[in-house]
Amino acid sequence: MDKVIIKCPAKINLSLDVVGKRQDGYHLVKMIMQSISLFDDVTVEKNGGGIRLYCKNKDVPDNEDNIAYRAAKLIIDRFNIDGGVDIFIEKRIPVAAGLAGGSTDAAGVIKAMNRIFDLGMDRDEMMELGLKLGADVPFCIMGGTALAEGIGEVLTPLKPFEAWCVVAKPNISVSTKEVYRSLRLDEITRHPETTRIIDYMERGNIEGVAENMVNVLETVTIKRHPVIFEIKNIMMEFHALGSLMSGSGPTVFGLFKDKGKAEICYNRLRDYLKEVYLVRTFNGEV
Ligand code: ATP
Repeated sequence: MDKVIIKCPAKINLSLDVVGKRQDGYHLVKMIMQSISLFDDVTVEKNGGGIRLYCKNKDVPDNEDNIAYRAAKLIIDRFNIDGGVDIFIEKRIPVAAGLAGGSTDAAGVIKAMNRIFDLGMDRDEMMELGLKLGADVPFCIMGGTALAEGIGEVLTPLKPFEAWCVVAKPNISVSTKEVYRSLRLDEITRHPETTRIIDYMERGNIEGVAENMVNVLETVTIKRHPVIFEIKNIMMEFHALGSLMSGSGPTVFGLFKDKGKAEICYNRLRDYLKEVYLVRTFNGEV
């Protein structure tokens, strides 16, 4: 097998808490991660040597700045692979959006190269390797529903959670690093009750989850981009059970039990924004 196509799902955070800071500056988090059915298609094909990356989206770098490129390099070096790969990224996940678009592409490259070069890595080994590229990569390799602690790499799988989501990205970009840098831990007024949310998730109680979702990074990003607050309000007006910013933003999602209601909200937001998606939580194998 010389070529593999991997479907790489985006993620949202059903809650995001920051509980401390490590000596090296990394923040300690407690987040509920959920894959959604919004995918990049990543194709990896063997070539004679070197790494080439192709992506039509102009905001996506085609060199070492691309985390998917770095994933290929890491594997070639680690396994002394004689030869290289062409990587084609069909980008559907909005860029710099808080949806782990880059991390999921990197996870896809690791899975693809594991197969085409017959490297024999099991999931834990791929996750360990992925962590060298970024804190969200191990979750992207695992996928589904999970609690992420540490800097995001200590993962506990959770029972699959089923819901409809409307995902909307305003036309602004946010730097994750910048948002964390501006966060003042002692100024966080409301932390999520993570255990309580997980309890609702395990009982399939979407209302309970939706009403308790909190992202402590919202205040930082909303202060700079009030449009995030406006989108949250529109989602609530259009019967979302709850609405939250994902990751460091600026993407907002609304949670729904009912597909019809989600469709109405989706259609309304499309009048305002270009990047709006109607998706489901995704717990399948990719
Ligand atoms: P996270 O939720 O993990 O913080 P994000 O969704 O906010 O990630 P990305 O879409 O991963 O952000 O992009 C962040 C930056 O990384 C972009 O500005 C882009 O220049 C760069 N980048 C590198 N590789 C990729 C990739 N494969 N896809 C998209 N952006 C990439």
